[in-house]
Amino acid sequence: MSDNPCLACPIDQGCCRNLDWMRLSPEEYERVYARVDDRMETRREGPFLLVRAKDKGACPHWDGHCTVYDERPTECRLYPQAIGSVFDGADMVLSVHAETPCPWRRALRGSDDAAEAMVRGLGQTVARQGQGVRVVREEGFGKLEVYFRRLARKLLGFGRYADTPYRPLIDLPRLFGRSR
Ligand code: SF4
Ligand code: SF4
Repeated sequence: MSDNPCLACPIDQGCCRNLDWMRLSPEEYERVYARVDDRMETRREGPFLLVRAKDKGACPHWDGHCTVYDERPTECRLYPQAIGSVFDGADMVLSVHAETPCPWRRALRGSDDAAEAMVRGLGQTVARQGQGVRVVREEGFGKLEVYFRRLARKLLGFGRYADTPYRPLIDLPRLFGRSR
């Protein structure tokens, strides 16, 4: 393995060639993706923007290597770890995990503290005024917490951003006559 194991990526730089709904702050979008927006699909999730390549293929900045390496967004710096879910509330809760498609994710996984600091920093750039930001690692009890948070969001909408493209199975505001 060379100093940079990604140069011998066994899935041919899979993380950049399969750009699939990466989460960005608006500032990251403007800085890195606005100039190639005709090649992107974009959707909102609360204060974040999710992007993927229109053909579900490679990142437009991929040219056999990352052409924007020094300005690449948080999720790229984080890889082979990734942000799992974001839950809205009094605190914004973001989960982080290493279950990504990178075949060498165990070997390439960097410091968990550094990864969590990066995720916290991203959350802090978009949090509402006064909203705390907490990062949960999807391991051990953290995995259990994130599982129940996802379940509560799916069933009841707890922690859901209003502009996410799905409705909870039991829509409490509708049941009680309040529309969103
Ligand atoms: S992080 Fe993993 S998937 Fe991405 S280029 Fe490196 S080895 Fe390949
Ligand atoms: S910005 Fe660079 S590192 Fe991030 S997905 Fe695109 S090519 Fe890969």
